Amino acid sequence: MIEAPVVDDLHYPFPPKPAPLSDEEKKAYRERIKRLLKEKDAVLVAHYYTDPEIQALAEETGGCVADSLEMARFGNDHPASTLVVAGVRFMGETAKTLTPEKRVLMPTLDATCSLDLGCPAEEFTAFCDAHPDHTVVVYANTSAAVKARADWVVTSSIALEIVEHLDSEGHQILWGPDRHLGSYIAKQTGAPMLMWQGACVVHDEFKAKALFDLKTQNPEAAVLVHPESPQSVVEIADAVGSTSQLIKASQELPNDTFIVATDKGIFYKMEQLSPNKTFIEAPTGGNGATCRSCAHCPWMAMNGLQAIEKALVSEDKTEHEVFVDPGLAERAMVPLNRMLDFAAELKLKVKGNA
Ligand code: SF4
Repeated sequence: MIEAPVVDDLHYPFPPKPAPLSDEEKKAYRERIKRLLKEKDAVLVAHYYTDPEIQALAEETGGCVADSLEMARFGNDHPASTLVVAGVRFMGETAKTLTPEKRVLMPTLDATCSLDLGCPAEEFTAFCDAHPDHTVVVYANTSAAVKARADWVVTSSIALEIVEHLDSEGHQILWGPDRHLGSYIAKQTGAPMLMWQGACVVHDEFKAKALFDLKTQNPEAAVLVHPESPQSVVEIADAVGSTSQLIKASQELPNDTFIVATDKGIFYKMEQLSPNKTFIEAPTGGNGATCRSCAHCPWMAMNGLQAIEKALVSEDKTEHEVFVDPGLAERAMVPLNRMLDFAAELKLKVKGNA
């Protein structure tokens, strides 16, 4: 029996941050990008975790700000022939898989994700092959190659229902790649799951003790937690859910103050929708501790204005354009469609990943 390798996120070198721009430079970039989007028949779709100025630009130019699946759906439905995906690599791949006839560009193809990095297709395939009696369920934050090896793809908004359904049918489940999300689902559903040991470098850093202390200092605040966080952090939450579910909770809960344990890029949308509420970052380190990502994904941060302009003007396809092998895309569509069909049957709206 092959055990899932323990993934050490410290092995992932973080990319450099984009060079800071003055207000005048930002203004000039925004104007050029607006013109280029029109000229190139392109639309900008941005993830909730990108920097606020990128989310604002996507909205100003008729694009969208959403989770990964909604980004792909929006791109599919939009009449533009080119999609500029401001997010991380697997999001560009999902958009290309669902919309193969469109050109999909990314500000940088180097924007990856520790869950994707920590789950290389070859090793994951070997793990699955060693457990042929298991049904393979993978989270959306994976490469097209890993999805192609799976029986089911799930997003955080429908993972509980699908795992519950598979468990009730007697399936033995092999889950990948996020160990915290996997533990959360296993605990909620009671389904035993064989687990790949990946983690998100951002959510893995939230600290339960410091969060508890912050909550004690702000007893009126509700705590919102993404389930990629450690279980000890999830246990303190008033609401646990995907990005879209947390945004909804921030609108619907009666509290005026929220402590938020997910990437701080999400504050843009929460503050936009609830301008009179206060949002506080959940702590990423205890007393004297350091954090590496500090509640902001280093790969999401690569989607700067400079890179977006470059993607729109560059002729070098290898730097910005997303390609997914058609055979691989076809295989990845099988578990993706299973999830979408299951959701349609339940009449559930499937929302994206992180
Ligand atoms: S926040 Fe975490 S899960 Fe999301 S893209 Fe970054 S590393 Fe991946």
